[in-house]
Amino acid sequence: MPKIIKRVAVLTSGGDSPGMNAAIRSVVRTCAFHKIQCIGIYRGYQGMIEGDFIEMGPRSVHNIINKGGTILKSARSKEFMTVEGRKKAYAELIKAEIDGFVVIGGDGSFTGAQIFNKEFKFPVMGIPGTIDNDIFGTSHTLGYDTALNTVIECIDKIRDTASSHNRLFFVEVMGRDAGHIALNAGIGAGAEEILIPEEDLGLERLVESLRKSKAAGKSSSIVVIAEGDKIGKNVFELKDYVEANLPEYEVRVSVLGHMQRGGSPSCFDRVLASRLGVKAVESLLEGKSNFMVGMLNDKVTLTPLLQAIKGETLIDRELLRVSEIMSV
Ligand code: ATP
Repeated sequence: MPKIIKRVAVLTSGGDSPGMNAAIRSVVRTCAFHKIQCIGIYRGYQGMIEGDFIEMGPRSVHNIINKGGTILKSARSKEFMTVEGRKKAYAELIKAEIDGFVVIGGDGSFTGAQIFNKEFKFPVMGIPGTIDNDIFGTSHTLGYDTALNTVIECIDKIRDTASSHNRLFFVEVMGRDAGHIALNAGIGAGAEEILIPEEDLGLERLVESLRKSKAAGKSSSIVVIAEGDKIGKNVFELKDYVEANLPEYEVRVSVLGHMQRGGSPSCFDRVLASRLGVKAVESLLEGKSNFMVGMLNDKVTLTPLLQAIKGETLIDRELLRVSEIMSV
């Protein structure tokens, strides 16, 4: 018999992403709609261990749908990675009479939830919140769409100065293991070349392509580079290499960094967060546990947490071809 859920907790864990607040709001209001109590846990799993909880009602989440970051704060907790830490967290949840939790975070947060569920048979649900879009079982993670919009807005501005000075710009975007941001924002911003972790373009090909674009009459160019690109050189080393091999180019570097993680969430992320929050709570109420709520083909779906953690997300190879054609 699945346990009856009367009190649900919500926490944000790992790196923050735009849309986390909208997801908290959705979880809290879905609980209120179904007349069950909702508890907010501050500072991710560390706050769970320390019993840093707050009662939440529909009015405690007003005016946050449009805010970046997370009102519950996020944290990385080394202690939760130990059995002793998780025992403390379990004791705090039981003391506060919490029957299940929804964790909004990335694959590390899901790993923690999955282990916790296994150890204590405690009902858990995950909502994917990370700008990298690298989680299996959902076409979009919370914050990804907003990050794409932030990146193209920045590159549009860089393009103005690049074209005024006939410069080549290398723009580094987030994505240590996944090139989704680089590939999509690169196409959206009209980049000449896009370097991603999944694909080895090769230095020679990059130089050749830039040489060709100069010969084709392009006076300025933008190259978008994911942090973890396969070539293995950081963006400054790449600049040195290209300048040494193509003296006709003056290269400038722009590292977008953490600004990609902030800002008001896009409409897409707000709607996604609202849908995933409803499904997470209603799934717990139906006695389901140990799933990630995601979206596939515009339908809200459940994927076992373990699969969401282990599954591989692939880049869309058609986009590589589109990018190549666009840089003719
Ligand atoms: P991001 O996408 O920003 O990296 P994430 O959720 O993957 O987000 P992590 O720092 O990897 O971020 O994980 C968040 C927290 O989840 C950790 O600080 C830790 O408390 C918990 N966690 C991660 N891995 C484990 C694990 N193997 N066992 C128990 N808890 C874990």
